[in-house]
Amino acid sequence: MSRDDTDVLIAGGGFAGLTLAIALRQALGPSFGIVVADPALGGGQTGDERASAIVAAARKLFEAIGVWQAVAAEAQPILDMVVTDSRLGDAVRPVFLTFAGEVEPGEPFAHMVENRLLLDALVDKAKAAGIALRATTASAPHQNGEHGERIAVTLGNGGACTARLLVAADGARSGIRTAAGIATHGWSYGQSAIVLNVGHERDHCGRAEEHFLPAGPFAILPRRGRRSSIVWTETTREAQRIVALPDAEFHAELEQRFKLHLGEITAVGPRRVHPLGFFVARSFIAERIALVGDAAHLIHPIAGQGLNMGLKDVAALAEVIVDAARLGLDPGSPTVLERYQRWRRFDTMAMGVATDGLNRLFSNRSDALRVARDVGLGLVDRVPALKRLFIREAAGLVGEVPKLLRGEVL
Ligand SMILES: Cc1cc2nc3c(=O)[nH]c(=O)nc-3n(C[C@H](O)[C@H](O)[C@H](O)COP(=O)(O)OP(=O)(O)OC[C@H]3O[C@@H](n4cnc5c(N)ncnc54)[C@H](O)[C@@H]3O)c2cc1C
Repeated sequence: MSRDDTDVLIAGGGFAGLTLAIALRQALGPSFGIVVADPALGGGQTGDERASAIVAAARKLFEAIGVWQAVAAEAQPILDMVVTDSRLGDAVRPVFLTFAGEVEPGEPFAHMVENRLLLDALVDKAKAAGIALRATTASAPHQNGEHGERIAVTLGNGGACTARLLVAADGARSGIRTAAGIATHGWSYGQSAIVLNVGHERDHCGRAEEHFLPAGPFAILPRRGRRSSIVWTETTREAQRIVALPDAEFHAELEQRFKLHLGEITAVGPRRVHPLGFFVARSFIAERIALVGDAAHLIHPIAGQGLNMGLKDVAALAEVIVDAARLGLDPGSPTVLERYQRWRRFDTMAMGVATDGLNRLFSNRSDALRVARDVGLGLVDRVPALKRLFIREAAGLVGEVPKLLRGEVL
């Protein structure tokens, strides 16, 4: 049975886990041991046709760790954005809010990047950096060593691994979080997102659209070429009914929401349904354990911020670990972990509550509420300073921004 003894073990080699591994390796060099365990690292993962909006701060992080260069040519900048609020059958959708997409000269507020492409670029970078990648699960964490100075996990391949710090980057259903006894605070929305890609006749010109319809937001996000990604919120029952429709009927439902401003549209590739929920872990840390990404929080995709929030965790955790390691301190000590938790948990609650509130405000059929929110949106649209603040907040550039998200290396 093989056994790794390392400094940091990362359970989960998704966006959060791999980004953290690369940032740590680049800052601390090969003498600082890093192991990433994830069964998906064995390859053969197909079917994620999604793309994510990567906000300006997250783009800076990927540039700082040398990954952005591999995806830049395929990334579609979001150059502007319109927000409307109407009923499904309305012939005209008045625009209440528009955002021109630059947060600073030459820096669009976000880019759309294919998930698969970004993940492949992260795996390639991690391999090139010589990070130990194990294509297996990590589970059953327990304290190890005479004074609990290490944590041990069981690997699904029959091996084991001990580390000074275990990072749970194993997604929303984190087994490490559960095993550590960390509860979550949250709920299911009873809503699901239908996700698909469409082709259209006319150029989108880099414009993203968010249409607030009574069942929930319908987002059109520009991709390279004459293509867009759709994230379409419905009640879960309705979402399942819609995706199961024959092509012609599905197309009619899609067209009713998408409209014809980009010419004829065609659905490309599979339609998938993602159930939507909200939670924040009651603690982001436990003894020798830190949670990052969806293992720590899950939010509604209404503002396209889930992954971006996870990357903020990663950037903050990388910074506190690097600061500690450079002083010869233990990266899994309570002082280090508490600094991470103080940095991230409040900010996460604030973003979680904001996206939850937005969803509640817009996913309903009340005309009175519609008038009130449209006055609010109209106001934001007419006050440039307020609008700028919203854009910078959405781009991840407000608050105590970790170095990596400012594009600085650690
Ligand atoms: C419809 C939709 C649209 C979205 N759009 C956006 C967007 O535009 N912008 C944005 O910022 N976010 C968006 N998000 C959110 C974003 O996709 C997630 O926040 C992000 O994927 C989370 O990354 P992660 O690395 O934390 O977790 P994951 O991507 O879930 O990765 C977790 C990894 O852990 C592995 N794993 C699981 N169990 C174990 C184990 N026991 N041991 C080892 N490994 C394990 C899994 O194989 C997986 O590779 C969207 C989400 C949805 C549903």
